[in-house]
Amino acid sequence: MRLTVFGSLALDTTRTPFRTEEEIMGGAATYAALASSMFVETEILGVIGSDFPENYLSLLRSRVGTAGLVIKSGQKTFRYDSSFNYDLSQRTSNKTELNVIAEYEPSVPDQHKDSPYVYLANNDPIQNMKMLKQFTNPKLVVCDTIEFWIQTKPDAVKKMFEMVHGVVINDQEARMLCGMSNLIKCAKEILSWGPEFVIVKKGEHGSILVRSDMIFVAPAYPLEEILDPTGAGDSFAGGFMGHLASVDNTDMKEFKSAVVYGNVMGSFAVEDFGLTRLLNIGNKDIIHRYHLFRKLTQL
Ligand code: AMP
Repeated sequence: MRLTVFGSLALDTTRTPFRTEEEIMGGAATYAALASSMFVETEILGVIGSDFPENYLSLLRSRVGTAGLVIKSGQKTFRYDSSFNYDLSQRTSNKTELNVIAEYEPSVPDQHKDSPYVYLANNDPIQNMKMLKQFTNPKLVVCDTIEFWIQTKPDAVKKMFEMVHGVVINDQEARMLCGMSNLIKCAKEILSWGPEFVIVKKGEHGSILVRSDMIFVAPAYPLEEILDPTGAGDSFAGGFMGHLASVDNTDMKEFKSAVVYGNVMGSFAVEDFGLTRLLNIGNKDIIHRYHLFRKLTQL
């Protein structure tokens, strides 16, 4: 089964109290697609400028399908600058430079219009909806969002949520969007807008899957060293969607496993800056950590 991921490809500047890295490869689609490519054939849709480094591009091409990746000559790639606090739990967005993604007209290449699994990352919700309308009959569509869009286009974010099967969102953003502090109430509020399930990602506290018929809680893997939380949510989404697409089954059991695979991929992503760790793991590492997870949570 195939998974198509639409989202930002970025040059990220990430500042933590311990280290700063400037203009490294990032972007929500990059994290999600590289994570999901460990499970299933993945196609990435998005746009970059001609300043996107060639070595980053060839790395992407070696792992995911790029027929839907547009390169705009003479234009600048999307850039995102953010800082983390001392315990790396809170992010502050310093600067979002949309550049080439501001004018992007979403387009799905003909050969991918029948993709059964679709992940719409934290893009402009209007672009996400335009993209979604081009898929013929996807089995499972999941989307994400981020502070920038909640603040600038909250109505479009809600409209986008109406159109998808599932939403993944982090705790800070769920509270901001719903104007409530309790995360279960936030998830139920989002469910009332239309999606069948909501996954609230809570960083070092794991994630909660909320459906109208059940709640499933998965703790985060207890890591001793976290260097850069950027992309944890996208890598979660990549693991979650990647697993479901690989088994081509969305029953309750696989759903729960997918949440755990999501946590596994998120936990790898934060162990080093940018994509470094994700690019250096193999299937054995993923399976090993999945089983450790099961042991850790068994009564
Ligand atoms: P995450 O840490 O998983 O929530 O997502 C971080 C990634 O999202 C970074 O690599 C950024 O490049 C990307 N990103 C941040 N803000 C935006 C935005 N407004 N639109 C699209 N992508 C974004």
